[in-house]
Amino acid sequence: MILRNTKYLLLVLVIYQNLFAQDSLLFVIRVDDIQSRNTTILPRRILDFENAVQQRGGKVTWAVIPHRLIETQNVNGVLQQELRESILRGNEIALHGYNHICPICGSSGHEMFCTAQNFNIPYSQQKDSLINGLNILHDSLNVFPISFVPPGHAQDTITFQTLLDLGIEFLSSNGETKNFIYKDLYNLKYNNEYTWQLSESLYQQKMQSALSEIRTIGLSNSYYCILLHDPFIRQGYENGIVIRWIGELLDSINIEYGNRVKYKTLSEAAAEFKHQQTTSVANVKNIPVGFELYQNYPNPFNPTTKISYGIPSVKTHGSTSVQNVLLKIYDLLGNEVATLVNENKAPGVYEIEFNGNRLTSGVYFYRLQSGKFNAVKKFVLMK
Ligand SMILES: [Zn+2]
Ligand SMILES: [Zn+2]
Repeated sequence: MILRNTKYLLLVLVIYQNLFAQDSLLFVIRVDDIQSRNTTILPRRILDFENAVQQRGGKVTWAVIPHRLIETQNVNGVLQQELRESILRGNEIALHGYNHICPICGSSGHEMFCTAQNFNIPYSQQKDSLINGLNILHDSLNVFPISFVPPGHAQDTITFQTLLDLGIEFLSSNGETKNFIYKDLYNLKYNNEYTWQLSESLYQQKMQSALSEIRTIGLSNSYYCILLHDPFIRQGYENGIVIRWIGELLDSINIEYGNRVKYKTLSEAAAEFKHQQTTSVANVKNIPVGFELYQNYPNPFNPTTKISYGIPSVKTHGSTSVQNVLLKIYDLLGNEVATLVNENKAPGVYEIEFNGNRLTSGVYFYRLQSGKFNAVKKFVLMK
């Protein structure tokens, strides 16, 4: 009888989980290689595309090759201005390498891993490229990207380590979906691209293929990321065919899924999956077996975010004792900027809100200390 009840409960849980999985669809629109404005064929700005997406409730993740921002075709400042305004409207800038050119063979499209010579670009060189890219994005757009799109989709374990060391938590590669592929680095892959060399004769066929893939792969993963390539400003994509296509696709999705579709940027979608994982851990483990410091949510944040941590049960002389817990915030240079917790805590999982309204944008650390336990995590304030 007990066995049957347990089975029944498990069945209910499985059905509930499946319903939940099918219920929501996180939808990401990623546009790679944001670059040249040197065409005279209209439209040649990113704003028309962004408007078409935002009118339907969507958000854009622009994968920007930093070096393109300082090349001659973009020095009039129009692209920088459009991207800066785009950030304010809730869209995201992802770091897309540095200059999209392989330092070994000079080929376009990969610079973290040389696909021609099957060669891993060394750590110091990858790190230099990424820091150069971060500096250009910061100087041009005043932004600290927290997501990364590998140039030519080629990366290696050195890339993953470099990203972690630079505080970039999320990447989009052609690897697994909804998984940590390297330590704490969350990966969300892109699914497909339907707009490359889009023509009127292929318009409907590609529309149906995209919708059918979203119904299958998208719903089973609760996630779909459509890829585009800054195509709406290039020769051959005149008359706004890509803008019309994405608008029609989003209209169909909105009709079919209603409020079950949740438009996210790349890092928002990754943070959402991370949060689901963290809260399910927190719900199951009421009393943790060891100290835990969870990633804050949301991240990046403006100006508030929540930090969760777990205090285990420690028995002394047969009785459970409370423990002194210290949770502090530090800036990049190690200066203490806030104390969130400094008190005795009983075993359990706690959540505390941090408000960064008096701090400037940037990378910060939060550190949990209790007895011999010591853990540090990074987070990003983006104003
Ligand atoms: Zn690219
Ligand atoms: Zn190469």
